[in-house]
Amino acid sequence: MTEAAKVVAITGASSGIGEATARRLAADGHHVFLGARRTDRLGALVREITAQGGSAAFRALDVTVAADVHGFVAAARERFGRLDVMVNNAGVMPLSPLAALRVEEWDRTLDVNVRGVLHGIAAALPVMRAQGGGHLVNIASVGAYEVSPTAAVYCASKFAVRAISEGLRQECGDGRIRVTLVSPGVTESELADSIGDPTAREAMKAYRAVALPAAAVADGIAYAVSQPAGVDVNELVIRPAASAQ
Ligand code: NDP
Repeated sequence: MTEAAKVVAITGASSGIGEATARRLAADGHHVFLGARRTDRLGALVREITAQGGSAAFRALDVTVAADVHGFVAAARERFGRLDVMVNNAGVMPLSPLAALRVEEWDRTLDVNVRGVLHGIAAALPVMRAQGGGHLVNIASVGAYEVSPTAAVYCASKFAVRAISEGLRQECGDGRIRVTLVSPGVTESELADSIGDPTAREAMKAYRAVALPAAAVADGIAYAVSQPAGVDVNELVIRPAASAQ
């Protein structure tokens, strides 16, 4: 450990990038507070981290419910005394062509990916301001920079996360609050499991053939978190080297 331990809350820590980030930041000596709906997974991860000498705890979390996210942040502070970093990572990607009219999936995508991030900001920002500092890390995607067929709503949600993060950065430009947008390319995780549309699911098999390990994205997040207080890593785009997307 080469830096002061921070209290880091991570949404969507039950699999994929959130889980890998919990492992990496705990290994770096930080206190990690984990949220998601699958608490069995969170419990197992907390046991694994603590068995290795790390500091971790969890709470059930649905990021679509603002009060739940407030409760999550409050529980992190209760457990570890403060909140230094909020990683708004929870996301879903039920891709489909717009003409398939999977309206409930559109709603869920916006609810989790956009409103979930806003709820995270609403819960964490007042705490960080009162403490005199903090770091919001929002997970977007390469889909925050480009649109592809079947991904219109997902990309819209990630464009929104990018816009919100940039607005937050500008509004918080007093040196106390840092804002980092992390945009991964294809990464090994359970994200594509939520694709119900058969056409989109088939198309994704080829698209997702070359993927980063989730730990590579976690390493990027750890880099941003480990910078000195005066340094704000604003955007990280992390793709597999063999990706042309
Ligand atoms: P996973 O599906 O493996 O993880 C998604 C996480 O989000 C799970 O922990 C899930 O937990 C959680 N989640 C989903 N809905 C909710 C909810 N309503 N409330 C709380 N937690 C929720 O996928 P990834 O690790 O890949 O996804 C993490 C982030 O990375 C997402 O924002 C995704 O868009 C982004 N991303 C991923 C890429 C990839 O190729 N994998 C590429 C670019 C961006 P649970 O179901 O237990 O609630």
